[in-house]
Amino acid sequence: MTILSNITRVHKLINPLKRTDNLLVVIRRTFASNGSFDYDLAVIGGGSGGLACAKEAVNQGAKVAVLDYVTPSPQGTKWGLGGTCVNVGCIPKKLMHQAAILGESIHEAVAYGWQVPSVESIKIDWSALTQAVQNHIKSVNWVTRVDLRDKKIDYINGLGEFKDPHTLIATMKNGSKKELTARNVVIAVGGRPHYPDIPGALEYCITSDDIFSLSHPPGKTLVVGAGYIGLECAGFLNSLGFPATVLIRSVPLRGFDQQMARVVTAEMEEKGIKLEHKCIPLSVEKLESGQLKARWLNTETQEQHEDLFDTVLIATGRYALTKQINLPAAGVNCVSPNGKIIADAEQTNVPHIYAVGDVLEGRPELTPVAIHAGRLLARRMFSGAAQQMDYDNVATTIFTPLEYGCVGVSEETAVQRHGADNIEVYHAYYKPTEFFIPQRNIRNCYLKAVALREAPQRILGLHFVGPVAGEVIQGFAAAMKCGITMEQLMNTVGIHPTVAEEFTRLNITKRSGKDPNPASCCS
Ligand code: FAD
Ligand code: NAP
Repeated sequence: MTILSNITRVHKLINPLKRTDNLLVVIRRTFASNGSFDYDLAVIGGGSGGLACAKEAVNQGAKVAVLDYVTPSPQGTKWGLGGTCVNVGCIPKKLMHQAAILGESIHEAVAYGWQVPSVESIKIDWSALTQAVQNHIKSVNWVTRVDLRDKKIDYINGLGEFKDPHTLIATMKNGSKKELTARNVVIAVGGRPHYPDIPGALEYCITSDDIFSLSHPPGKTLVVGAGYIGLECAGFLNSLGFPATVLIRSVPLRGFDQQMARVVTAEMEEKGIKLEHKCIPLSVEKLESGQLKARWLNTETQEQHEDLFDTVLIATGRYALTKQINLPAAGVNCVSPNGKIIADAEQTNVPHIYAVGDVLEGRPELTPVAIHAGRLLARRMFSGAAQQMDYDNVATTIFTPLEYGCVGVSEETAVQRHGADNIEVYHAYYKPTEFFIPQRNIRNCYLKAVALREAPQRILGLHFVGPVAGEVIQGFAAAMKCGITMEQLMNTVGIHPTVAEEFTRLNITKRSGKDPNPASCCS
């Protein structure tokens, strides 16, 4: 690593404009892994963070190996290279969300004049949907493998663990062991779904690991948990025609702006999803009929309830996969009680061992976060770069039936940090133009900007519930990075007629007590 860094510095001096040209890569590869190591970098985990880090390290001239292995879920589901996002996360979730939106659009199309043979007969073919989703995933798995091969990254399809701080053991599918040494190691093992400790959970319930490839239609479904995954899954299942009930232990979307969370769940209830507040699961039993009898407890009233379901989907959070990698053998001890790695600047207490992605304590569990942190880390490791990952103001979207996108802090957090007197909240209900003809529910189309009260009113948080919330929020996230103020937002000319322009039309403060409902579409 020292040699590589020195080469970079010398190269920058003599050739400041072309930092990573071919010459540099050739020189580095020549020196790569000098000494007694097989690789400059070994990455444990071929998901979003691990792959991004590995590819960037190769761009910087390093010799790299990636170990990736998927342990089947308790229901036996397994998948290929690429990690959670591609196989059992963002991608299949977004595709199922899209399938749900399309189903609703067919009904709306009738109002626009489309002649549909029989609206009542419209229903989803679950097996065609899962097949299409899985075909796409397999193509991504394939492209990922080819990409690694083209980049000369050694892909080892084995379960990795430390033997010592520089040596990894990979246990392959057939049980054989492979040993390799690396100057640097990145832990990017991500996480897997947590199961509550109740009878029947492991035996009869599924998780997000299983739902996207489920061999049969899920039918009436109980979703346990009201975080991102619980609400998203309940949302698309219900819209696909599978009635959904959600058990909420405390509040939905804890940690998010709670006014916005209530707007999101109000829309879900209006669409027919049952929400059981303050409820925890007690047991799941399989009946002779094949149905599942679930029992739960309302922790406020202490009443017990039970109902029959075809599927119980657990979405009670995820745990980091650190137990199986023998961290003590590497001397890594910066591990939190829940198994996550505490690492400033992605570096553990052992200087050549790093961590990125979901495995990190206190970082957003999001694909672009893992990717960005992985890339920056590789540049710091192999090209002498200094830029650190900025985990603040990361935008995110929850793909519920009406999507919720946000960037920055919640109203509660802003008030807590600055005091209610120093915060101004601008808000509005709005009517998306496309909702007029089918007369769609507009009660929950709502947005707000949380800003400092003092001019020029720097914006601390933007929150939007409505169609394509992710697309709306992404651009504003860049503006937030630049320190956008309410003055600037109000001086931005909108694009009409879009839903994103609603941010540029905000002018009513909560403090004023004025009605935030819109007068007309163009007022
Ligand atoms: P992962 O992608 O989980 O990759 C880790 C890899 O390491 C896995 O392949 C794992 O099998 C492998 N591994 C683990 N241990 C070992 C070992 N010992 N040896 C070898 N290999 C090992 N994020 C978003 O930004 N947007 C979304 O819309 C979104 N939707 C999601 C929906 C669902 C249902 C879920 C579950 C997650 C979603 N996420 C979303 C989160 C996103 O998927 C994760 O933040 C992201 O995948 C984290 O990347 P990672 O590299 O840290 O870990
Ligand atoms: P999560 O957001 O942490 O939500 C977990 C939910 O389960 C919470 O509602 C929690 O309730 C509940 N819960 C936990 N233990 C429980 C128990 N024993 N009994 C009953 N309920 C219990 O976790 P997640 O939904 O699994 O998502 C994991 C991460 O994946 C997220 O943090 C997110 O970053 C990422 N993700 C992102 C997206 C996206 O970007 N759109 C989508 C999906 C996932 P309490 O609030 O009471 O603890």
